[in-house]
Amino acid sequence: MTWYPVSDHQTDKATYSFEITVPEGKVAVANGLPARDPVTEDGWTTWFWDAPDAQASYLTTASVGDFDLRFSETAEGLPIVDAVDDNLTATNRATTEASLALQADMIGFLEAAFVPYPFNSSGAIVDDDTVGYALETQTRPVYSRVARESTVVHELAHQWFGDAVSPGRWQDIWLNEGWATYVEWLWSEHSGRETAQMSFDDVMDIPADNAFWELPIADPGADDLFEAPIYDRGAATLHALRGKIGDDAFLAATREWLTRYDDSTGTTEDFQAISEEASGQDLQAFFDVWLRAPGRPTTW
Ligand SMILES: [Zn+2]
Repeated sequence: MTWYPVSDHQTDKATYSFEITVPEGKVAVANGLPARDPVTEDGWTTWFWDAPDAQASYLTTASVGDFDLRFSETAEGLPIVDAVDDNLTATNRATTEASLALQADMIGFLEAAFVPYPFNSSGAIVDDDTVGYALETQTRPVYSRVARESTVVHELAHQWFGDAVSPGRWQDIWLNEGWATYVEWLWSEHSGRETAQMSFDDVMDIPADNAFWELPIADPGADDLFEAPIYDRGAATLHALRGKIGDDAFLAATREWLTRYDDSTGTTEDFQAISEEASGQDLQAFFDVWLRAPGRPTTW
């Protein structure tokens, strides 16, 4: 909302096309795929990008820099466009290249687990910014300074959980961050490292009197949208739900969630309803204990 006029709410998705004119020699990268070759005239180059999938305004990006622009694809032919800053440190570059090389495998893992990749392309923008962060900008997440493996699988998970299905209200943000964190756990297990159960146990080992357990996940308030419990208790909620309703119902609910609300938004109440439909169970007490009541859950 600081660089283009827009109805800045995720319930008002739109398609985007970009024309970005920059000094010759600089690269401009955005969401989606190149619409045509860049055009250079009088020392300025115009770059054209087209993002034809419905997109929330907060997931839109236009990045300009000294990028090495690289094109590849997954085994199924999904285009991957990576823009990697020329100026990363050697250590960060090595970490980044190793992580980006896993993108096709990660997308395949997520497609096998859930539903097909929701957009026309994927990839990454890795910039040598002064502060560290990452953001799941649609089709092309932004990584500041370095792209670590756990962060890359987190941002790719957001393409399904957050981007294709966006939170209906910002208070539903745990549906973004809990899911992306849970996919980190699943990827770790898939890669032969810590299992999802071990990650869950790590969360439950946080002492009951720790402030971690005080934040109400389903409505954390504007100042606490991105606090650690949104991520970790959110992921633990999903693991506990899977245990309660079983793998088959959990998978059916997840696929229904990603199908029914694709290119749209959903709320915590919508997610609860789908989980109840898939399992045939009344889950009001479960979601109250995990998302609405403060305190470390003991029974659910
Ligand atoms: Zn996230």
